[in-house]
Amino acid sequence: MTLFENVRIFDGTNGRLSDPSSVLVRGHRIERISATPIPTDRRADTVLIDGAGRTLMPGLIDMHWHTMLVRFTPAEVLAADVGHWNLVAAAEATDTLLRGFTTVRDLGGPSFGLKRAIDEGVVTGPRIFPSGAMITVTSGHGDFRQMFEIPRVLGGPPSRMETLGGSMVADSPDEVRVRVREQLMLGASQIKLTAGGGVASPHSPLDVSTFTEPELRAAVEAAANWGTYVTVHAYTPVSIQRAIAAGVKCIEHGHLMDEATARLIAERDIWLSTQPFPQEMADVFPEGSDQRAKAEEVVAGTNTVYEMAKRYKLKTAFGTDVLFSQALAQRQGALLATLGRWYTPAEALVMATGTNARLLALSGKRSPYAGKLGVVEEGALADVLLVDGNPLEDLTLVANPSKNFLVIMKDGTIYKNTLAQPHPRGEAGVAR
Ligand SMILES: [Zn+2]
Repeated sequence: MTLFENVRIFDGTNGRLSDPSSVLVRGHRIERISATPIPTDRRADTVLIDGAGRTLMPGLIDMHWHTMLVRFTPAEVLAADVGHWNLVAAAEATDTLLRGFTTVRDLGGPSFGLKRAIDEGVVTGPRIFPSGAMITVTSGHGDFRQMFEIPRVLGGPPSRMETLGGSMVADSPDEVRVRVREQLMLGASQIKLTAGGGVASPHSPLDVSTFTEPELRAAVEAAANWGTYVTVHAYTPVSIQRAIAAGVKCIEHGHLMDEATARLIAERDIWLSTQPFPQEMADVFPEGSDQRAKAEEVVAGTNTVYEMAKRYKLKTAFGTDVLFSQALAQRQGALLATLGRWYTPAEALVMATGTNARLLALSGKRSPYAGKLGVVEEGALADVLLVDGNPLEDLTLVANPSKNFLVIMKDGTIYKNTLAQPHPRGEAGVAR
């Protein structure tokens, strides 16, 4: 058990702090929240944390993360020793949790093994909602083959990236169905397809549309049969509109969308999971390269997508989509803080906690974690941060987690506590 005393609560849905309160965590869950002291047995293994009026808030959620692709580039992945790759990804997972991100939705990469090790307590890291391999078409975003691997023999052996489970190529509704069902069998909580061109892949211009509507529909049907949903990588109006026509429930990115597309997203009540791309994202790619030019175009769309999200009141989730850069990953919280350009601190923090968790809940029974995430309320899973200060007044506090997050708890377990004191033992009674 852990008892937080004298904390002011940001609950993940409401943009105000509570009066000074006590919060009791028992096992994996928040058991009780009270404005009056909560009696507890001090002889037991109860950890007492005196918040001294600081802020207790839900753990942060990153809705667009690549557990396996933060530190390794695609070239390194293709050449990787799989054991080494997983160990490096595990180290990054530990860093992710210690940045206060207690849950990530993984949108491409073979994160199943690492997720299992984290859930078993073997490795420290966030909760992972895995998609498994991202599913793409020949030449699409996520097709990392070399030109000499063309032509593919239908029914022939998989490419290296497919063998690794990073991405899967599917060129008909039937192939799409197979690949979707395989990821579901492996434990995917949602399915990710790439509906249009992307920055990081070698063969897809940004403007292209990839899957046909029947192919997208096959994925949606297979996921729906399994009780979950499809989200698509899509920047352009055509790719977004086609995905929505096929029954896709969530759009990733959207940085090149237009007004008509934003209106459609609003009308159909589709989720927009987008990211404040920083200039550093483009700087990852060599100057003068194709990928650099694509990245610059997308980075420039960041302001467009957030202005439209606000104007059309789109259901908007927050993520970072950090790829191939440990240095950028260390700025995960700083990327959240950049939402301050478009949103109040309360709006940004509600998005990164309670709202993100509502999108996670679309996984239904395919969610790997039974219980409510992204909120501080009785009965919810105990993923909480104790913040030194009030992030609803100063959003930049989340940009420096090592200094400002004094306690990090996931699933009722404390992973960081800079307030830890020797535990008072042999003293029965009521805590203050
Ligand atoms: Zn991504």
